[in-house]
Amino acid sequence: MTDFRAAAHTAADLVSDYLAELPDRPVWQPMAGAARAALLDAPLPAEGRPLDELLAAIGRDVLPYPMGNGNPRFFGWVNSAPAPAGVLATLAAAAMNPSSAGGDHADVHLERAVVRWIAELVGFPHPAGGGLLTSGTSMATIVCLAAARGRAARRAGVDVREEGLAALPPLVGYVTGETHSCVRKAAELLGLGSRHLRTVATGPDGLVDAADLRAAVERDRAAGLLPFLAVASAGTVGTGAVDAFGPIADLCAEQGLWLHVDGAYGAFGRLDPAIAHRYEGLERADSLALDPHKWLGVPVDCGCALVRDTEELRGTFSLVPSYLRDEAAGELGWFSEYGTEQTRPFRALKVWATIAHKGRTGLAQDIARCTELARRLGELVEADEELELLAEVQTSIVAFRHRPADLDESDLNALNRALPVAVQRRGRVFVTGARLGEREMLRACLLNAETTEADLRLLLAEVKAAARDLRP
Ligand SMILES: *Cc1c(COP(=O)(O)O)cnc(C)c1O
Repeated sequence: MTDFRAAAHTAADLVSDYLAELPDRPVWQPMAGAARAALLDAPLPAEGRPLDELLAAIGRDVLPYPMGNGNPRFFGWVNSAPAPAGVLATLAAAAMNPSSAGGDHADVHLERAVVRWIAELVGFPHPAGGGLLTSGTSMATIVCLAAARGRAARRAGVDVREEGLAALPPLVGYVTGETHSCVRKAAELLGLGSRHLRTVATGPDGLVDAADLRAAVERDRAAGLLPFLAVASAGTVGTGAVDAFGPIADLCAEQGLWLHVDGAYGAFGRLDPAIAHRYEGLERADSLALDPHKWLGVPVDCGCALVRDTEELRGTFSLVPSYLRDEAAGELGWFSEYGTEQTRPFRALKVWATIAHKGRTGLAQDIARCTELARRLGELVEADEELELLAEVQTSIVAFRHRPADLDESDLNALNRALPVAVQRRGRVFVTGARLGEREMLRACLLNAETTEADLRLLLAEVKAAARDLRP
């Protein structure tokens, strides 16, 4: 083990240097062919190598080529810089290497605690056992929608675990054009058929139109189908918009629908007093999927599924074969009775470390700083004649496009479609794009409290410089 101790010290230096140097490096650069090939074509080693040689290889072949999300000038997708406390915790968690399926060991109890903390941070009710950590929101959505499916089937007199979907009329769910693709994936996997996910109308702000939702539910019910689910967003991935939960929750209660909220990116925005009012009614949802590995900066991977009714979740997944019976698991049983995985990683320690390091107050300050930066970026866009803000800045995503006066809509779309990669290749900032309705746009996501106003100005300058490069 002296070998390990020396290597661990080297690793600590390597990682510390990496993190310290990140802000002064290009945000991202394409990998040179030889560097890429060194990884892609690496031959299977016949003989082993000592730990210090492995660390040297990591320092030479891996760490110089990051995705870019650790840098304060990274504005792409929804990928945050890792919280340093979470990085440290990862090493200890790996050293313990439990399976957090259940039992009486530290990791299991800590997961119960941090799931409760997460619920408390976003203001969601938390009955004991009402949630678990997952790989991300994609998996959390599968978990939540499976519970929704089970409840709808039971109310129709069918045990879907035993009978499958064939014993039921088609189950129908309601989403919007801005709903994240993970909802459709979950619906497909659960056998619902994406045809049975209706896209309801949205207002000009991109939010669910409750009147249109009601009309769609009534139409489907009259046609003999089984409406069972509505999905709302606590921060859409395109523009960061937060649905008005109150009217949707009223309708779901009246119509017996399960209300699922996708809070992957935005749920933690509730910590910022300046925008907390947007989240009113979130606590009325039946389930909430969210990602500590986004705005909180918990190192990937870490999602979380929260449900209002613990028994719905356990009733959906519980399956305890004799070789897993365990009195030590206590009344709540195993985590593996609440989700899809049996052997589960110790995600809770990096969540614990991230939250414990900052405290609720520190997390709230960081999040408020991000929404303030986003509003500032929105102002800078609006003040610039060549740029156009495409949506209200509700949380910390800024949707905009470059709009030179001499281009028509079709040329504007071509230009804005090409811009993100052109900006990325310049290496100074990193931004990504998306389509909003008929328009191609850039979207900057502010997740890093270290970002400065100068970084925001640089982003806009880089967008315009890249556009000049692209235009003949
Ligand atoms: C990231 C994201 C997802 C998917 O979550 P993963 O953690 O990537 O699986 C779903 N919805 C929204 C709004 C997101 O931002």
